[in-house]
Amino acid sequence: MNRKQKKMLIRIICAVVLMIGFAFLPVEGWLRFALYMIPYFVVGYDILKKAILGIWNRQIFDENFLMAVATIGAIAIALTGEGDYTEAVAVMLFYQIGELFQSYAVGKSRKNIIELMDIRPDYANIEQNGEVVQVAPDEVVIGSTIIVRPGEKIPIDGMIMDGESTLDTSALTGESVPRDVAAGMEVISGCINLTGVLKIQTTKEFGESTVSKILDLVGSASSKKSKSENFISKFAKVYTPIVCYCALALAILPPLISMFLKMDANWMNWIYRALTFLVISCPCALVISIPLSFFAGIGGASKEGVLIKGSNYLEALSQVDTIVFDKTGTLTKGVFEVNAVHHSNMNHEQLLDYVAHAESASSHPISQSLQRAYGKTLDLSRVSDIQEISGHGIVAKVDGKDVLVGNHKLMEREQIVFKECHYVGTVIHVAINGEYAGHIVISDVVKKDSEETIKTLKKAGVKKTVMLTGDAKEVTKQVAEKLHLDQVYSELLPQDKVEKVEALLEGKNAREKLAFVGDGINDAPVLSRADIGIAMGAMGSDAAIEAADIVLMDDNPLKIVKAIKISRKCMKIVYQNIIFSIGIKVICLVLGALGIANMWLAIFADVGVMVLAVLNAIRVLFLDEI
Ligand code: ADP
Ligand code: MG
Repeated sequence: MNRKQKKMLIRIICAVVLMIGFAFLPVEGWLRFALYMIPYFVVGYDILKKAILGIWNRQIFDENFLMAVATIGAIAIALTGEGDYTEAVAVMLFYQIGELFQSYAVGKSRKNIIELMDIRPDYANIEQNGEVVQVAPDEVVIGSTIIVRPGEKIPIDGMIMDGESTLDTSALTGESVPRDVAAGMEVISGCINLTGVLKIQTTKEFGESTVSKILDLVGSASSKKSKSENFISKFAKVYTPIVCYCALALAILPPLISMFLKMDANWMNWIYRALTFLVISCPCALVISIPLSFFAGIGGASKEGVLIKGSNYLEALSQVDTIVFDKTGTLTKGVFEVNAVHHSNMNHEQLLDYVAHAESASSHPISQSLQRAYGKTLDLSRVSDIQEISGHGIVAKVDGKDVLVGNHKLMEREQIVFKECHYVGTVIHVAINGEYAGHIVISDVVKKDSEETIKTLKKAGVKKTVMLTGDAKEVTKQVAEKLHLDQVYSELLPQDKVEKVEALLEGKNAREKLAFVGDGINDAPVLSRADIGIAMGAMGSDAAIEAADIVLMDDNPLKIVKAIKISRKCMKIVYQNIIFSIGIKVICLVLGALGIANMWLAIFADVGVMVLAVLNAIRVLFLDEI
């Protein structure tokens, strides 16, 4: 509990004690009124203040106004001797208990989600003068050497200098198979070191590390509101005035009609009913449970390694009917093997040396693979003027020579005469000082879960699956046939991908959403153009985390299916809560208008519905059935 909540609790306890105490005092009339005003103001002064401010700002109809009118009305009735002051105090009291419960539940579930993810490191071990000391992770500067023992969390992103081990990445990715790591590999914070001691040189500050990024993201996810949430605020704006006018009508019309018919007007009875009606009408359950359901949905997803940046995306995801995939790194592994080197007058080793150096600054999967194929450490001082031309390749200077590495489009652009290749594969042409120097044929393999992903997406009701790629036609055809995709487009530049997505978006209605899934490398424009941009394999790639709306921590495409299922389940619970709370409200309102429900029942119904709705919302966190 935080300080505000504690203060509220104390106010509630004081009011309860006073109210019960006064019930035993044999005082009557104004003195009794004055005594009961003490607990009334103790527990409700802030509500009254907010109601007055609301009137002052001409935003009259909110729940504070409802509570103020209802309780002041109840007091007025009690003054005439018809009712009891306890009722007014109790209504205010229960309302505040409800509010307290709500703020506690929201705070608690936020904390739970973060704890559930269990990735926040508490300390880092650094070496100082030959001794290992524990410090707070945010005190560690970039380039420090940290030591992570078995059982400890890696606190900051970095590169392994020494040692080998296996890592448990499940808290980040939901993936239970441990990962082997050794010196020279990059590791990210939040993983748990399982077997060996690792010496890691940090490459980021704590605040920029994966763990901090994820926690920030989850923490702020609730700020982007979904359509359903906006619906609730719009609903409240219409609903509250309607309820107020209904209450007014209930208080005035029946007595007037009775008078007209020369019957007993019974003013007090009808005013009391109208006030009960107002108390019942408070839409607390709705207002509370909807954001909480979304929050729980986002939390449940992050437990699976799926980060959703706002409840609007969660809602959109549940309505996806078209999924567009990038090929490299998304449906295929993005780990290319070198198959052959052709038409090169140069020693192959020498060619690869130029290529690997030219590629030294790129994070493209092709570049990473070529560097790996070269296998030796790069001498970065030999390279300068590197330019990465997306969808084409690289232009750089190596040892002072102009080196071009890329596809046929790059060669055409630079007017280099190149030779076609008869192999099926991704062909990387190389030119040095304006002369064609041969090509390297590389090939990629389809991820083992890609086929299953497309199949289950179809089963889950996704209508259209599309693949877009910058790679060559033949390669694309091979992949497409294997995966049974509905449509494929090849040899696209990043801007062509945007155009294709725009074309697919055309003619869709608002309830059919398009998601684009990419690796976040050079597809940021498409990611942002789609209704939902999903980046995968985001472990360590900041660009992807920034550009996407939904981030999959590991690179298993099956997670997309999981994310869709989570979103649908969450939306189901949201709708359940909306229907349930509004339904019970309507029943209670009718009972109140008929004079069957009194104010006590009204307040219990409200708090009860709220508690049930909140519990239902929390169910989203437990998605074992999926
Ligand atoms: P994808 O749609 O498969 O992700 P990209 O748009 O990233 O493809 O790249 C399209 C093509 O551009 C690649 O198939 C390759 O021919 C060429 N290319 C892109 N980046 C590089 C690079 N760093 N080195 C060599 N070629 C590249
Ligand atoms: Mg790509």
